[in-house]
Amino acid sequence: MQAIAKTRAAFGADIVELPTPHPADNQLLVRIAACGICGSDLHIYEWELGAERMVARMPFIMGHEPAGEVVAIGRGVIGFKPGDRVALDPFGHCGRCGPCRAGRFHLCAQPTTLSGAFADYTIAPVGNAHLVPATMDFETAALLEPFGTGLHAVELSSLKAGDSAVIAGPGPIGLSVALAARALGVSSIVMTGLTADSGRLELARAMGFATVCASDRDWTEQVRARLPADGADALFDASGAIDSPRELLRRGGEFVEVGWPARDLTAAELRALFFHGVTWINSRIRSPETWRRAIAMVAAGQIALTPMVTHRYDLTRGIEAFELLRARQGMKALIIPRGQ
Ligand SMILES: [Zn+2]
Ligand SMILES: [Zn+2]
Repeated sequence: MQAIAKTRAAFGADIVELPTPHPADNQLLVRIAACGICGSDLHIYEWELGAERMVARMPFIMGHEPAGEVVAIGRGVIGFKPGDRVALDPFGHCGRCGPCRAGRFHLCAQPTTLSGAFADYTIAPVGNAHLVPATMDFETAALLEPFGTGLHAVELSSLKAGDSAVIAGPGPIGLSVALAARALGVSSIVMTGLTADSGRLELARAMGFATVCASDRDWTEQVRARLPADGADALFDASGAIDSPRELLRRGGEFVEVGWPARDLTAAELRALFFHGVTWINSRIRSPETWRRAIAMVAAGQIALTPMVTHRYDLTRGIEAFELLRARQGMKALIIPRGQ
């Protein structure tokens, strides 16, 4: 089978030919139908910002937002059979560690992982697989992973219907936060991005969200003008920039980090947040419960995810897809292994 792999601790990725794997006990062999490219894949492609923690795994197949069809199952598998449609989470949970025993599966200390999904096939531990309805198209199913990240962030916040939220970073995760917040009934939602994100901001507007360009000198005032007078109940940072939480949040508001923090905070900034009574929440990945709700919301037609797909590439053109996203073009790009 073909795959896009990281073979060296440097910029770039390679298209490689590998044998099709076989599922071991409690594993599924899944034929990939679609796999999203994510900002973290870009970090790994460019080999920056925390990618060095992956050196030990090298060489490895990239890709972690797949959906596809189960084609074979290992011994001991319960609940899945060949022909089932599945969406895969790159992180399963061990069920034994402290966080798992406390029901905080998204903080599992020893998560089970996929073998990489920019490939014709991938191996998934059963705990990483989520059944989706046979009526759900594979592109939608592949978008459940990023949508689940956004939904999880909203669920970790205290947002309620009628509240207000600012979302920094108009990429697929920011947009997923916005979709989840709107589904919850949040009344004022403002998305922000830089001039370089103008295409993404335009798509966010087309999907019904107010946007502000954070490259404008008076951008915080522009955002505040679209919020209740005392500021936002929650600020979701899907950009890593951690920009102006004190200026945008109401006193006692919540700052939810959904991106990879990309700068150091000064003691003065932290003091300002302290005196403003800001609650800081870090939201990484998803929980099995989030998957259940995300699948139900999408299956019920409450949320449409495919409008965020702007580009599709087969495996042989995978490198082009990375270069497109590096240029901040497009919203969500999907790898469709066998093309369309
Ligand atoms: Zn991702
Ligand atoms: Zn665990």
